[in-house]
Amino acid sequence: MRTPTQITKLAHEKACCDTTFDWENKQDFEFASRGLIHRPDDAAVYDALGNIVWHHEAFEEFLHGDAPLTVHPSLWRHALLNNFRGLFKVTDGIYQVRGESLANVTFVESDNGYIVIDPLTTAEVAEYALNLLFQHVGKKPIVAMIYSHTHSDHFGGVRGMISQEEVESGQVRVFASEGFVEWVLKEHGLAAEGTPSRNAYMYGENLPVSAVGLVDDGLGQAIEGGQVTYIAPTDVIGRDGATLSIDGIEIEFMYAPGEAPTGMHCYFPKFNTLHIADNCYMCMHNVYTIRGAFPRDALQWADSVARSLRFTETEYLVSGHNWPVFGRDEVKRFLGQQRDGIKFMHDQTLRLMNFGYVPAEIANQIEFPPSLARLWHLRGYYGTLKHNVRGIYVYYLGWYDGNPATLDELPPRILANKTLEYMGGVNAVVARAREDYEQGNYRWVVHILNQVLWAEPENSLARELASAAHTQLGYSAENATWRNAYLSAAIELTQGLPEIPKLHRVLRDVTRSMSVLHMLDALSIRLNASRAIDKTFVINWILTDSSELSHSELSNCVLNHRQGNAIEADATITLTRSVIGQMSLEPLTIDQFTALVEVIEGDVKAVTELLRLLDHFPHWFPVATHGRKFEERSYSDLK
Ligand SMILES: [Zn+2]
Repeated sequence: MRTPTQITKLAHEKACCDTTFDWENKQDFEFASRGLIHRPDDAAVYDALGNIVWHHEAFEEFLHGDAPLTVHPSLWRHALLNNFRGLFKVTDGIYQVRGESLANVTFVESDNGYIVIDPLTTAEVAEYALNLLFQHVGKKPIVAMIYSHTHSDHFGGVRGMISQEEVESGQVRVFASEGFVEWVLKEHGLAAEGTPSRNAYMYGENLPVSAVGLVDDGLGQAIEGGQVTYIAPTDVIGRDGATLSIDGIEIEFMYAPGEAPTGMHCYFPKFNTLHIADNCYMCMHNVYTIRGAFPRDALQWADSVARSLRFTETEYLVSGHNWPVFGRDEVKRFLGQQRDGIKFMHDQTLRLMNFGYVPAEIANQIEFPPSLARLWHLRGYYGTLKHNVRGIYVYYLGWYDGNPATLDELPPRILANKTLEYMGGVNAVVARAREDYEQGNYRWVVHILNQVLWAEPENSLARELASAAHTQLGYSAENATWRNAYLSAAIELTQGLPEIPKLHRVLRDVTRSMSVLHMLDALSIRLNASRAIDKTFVINWILTDSSELSHSELSNCVLNHRQGNAIEADATITLTRSVIGQMSLEPLTIDQFTALVEVIEGDVKAVTELLRLLDHFPHWFPVATHGRKFEERSYSDLK
């Protein structure tokens, strides 16, 4: 464990007396604790095998009192607020379980049961939350499930609360907005393959839960472990919204893209309660998320928040994360401020962009005006102004800054070697970096040592010093996800990558719900092009469980898939959907594959070839260390 340097301590003391922060305002503590019915005192939540999926005790041990010198005081305040957890009554008929997952689940009492909004991330914690409700409020059936948007922390726990059979029998309706299924697949499908490492960095999943590790994730304390499940919606709410009565409860659904590309707000007139999805919560949003995702449409987002002001009778504003806002005037003020926070970032980025500023300039230039900077609910615990404005730039203009000097940059390893050669070599640079470290220039130190580590990945002096600088940046970060990323880098630099994640999440249920063509597309991105040169084949697929026919064709090192069987195929395989899913998840030999399928007709060699050409992605890839990657080319011929 590294201790904070004198420079980090001074920064901490400065933040403590920074008048930007409204330290005297304690309203959030009252809102976060209001209506508590039960706070569980068990040590943890477990899965069926006895593994911990949610750890109460770990956070309880250290989250109290004043901020330690290893945590930014503003982030510490926010972490204390996220530690108000358990079952809460928002108002008569509206309950939430908060702080037992990264997200909140909201229960609305209907005539004969409950309407659930957002069943958390995994089935294990969802079941735990439902039991809290049943034990302390009353056991009644779930009559409807509402997914507020497409992120897995808002649907992944669904099978912990309802079953597929209940949905198929019509006992439970599942509501989502138009485009929900498409975007779940986009966001949790192909690109998600590479995100475990980046996710772990952002959410601190491999950090110890402690004052020198994970203290908070901004949206909540952490992401839970367990089974991420999925049940497809039965009722789709279109872009015009809808007003429906479900089991005696009127709901006004409002289509509301923002934090997710499709989503909706739900207003319950009977309870004067508005659920605003993840479009507002008690910290700055992520217009861009550092785990990696396409940037969100900030203008549309601000508009979704602005349109919610039409629910003028709202007394209780609840959302997918953090705590509610209570009071008609408070809600109105809050929504206006949240709208302005997003629109400010958008408008000022576009203004500077149109003067020709490039992303790094914009990121270091834009600051909130004092009236927004002072608001706790717009502080950057999740998003930051710095990374959001870069996301807005990319949303409009893409990655290229318009300067041809950056159009065809050399790859990082060759760039680093050449730069260090100009600077007098690795040893000279590390020595200078040490001086900068002593002076507290940590941002520069991690930048220049990143160059050194591209050139010499195993340089232990550089690794140690870079790790130290990342640690100090983590201790000083107000943003939870930046802190997590810095501290994760510090660990990777000295200890390497972990074998397995601390809290394992399984995503197979989402894969199972994909269409066959989506599942086959997941094979296409595994095709190793260099091994496929000059190879061609056509394979027909006959799916026995869904009566679907499709075919895959290899040409020009590309696997294309279409519906229907091809007239001339090298092989025809009769199998179930799950085998295609399995092909995407693990390498299979032809013998293993043959044992799983029903029949292979035609040329078995084509099938063997397909299996041989598929790569399988590592569970983790390195982020901060730069050892040679799988099949990295030598670059010796690049100029
Ligand atoms: Zn969320």
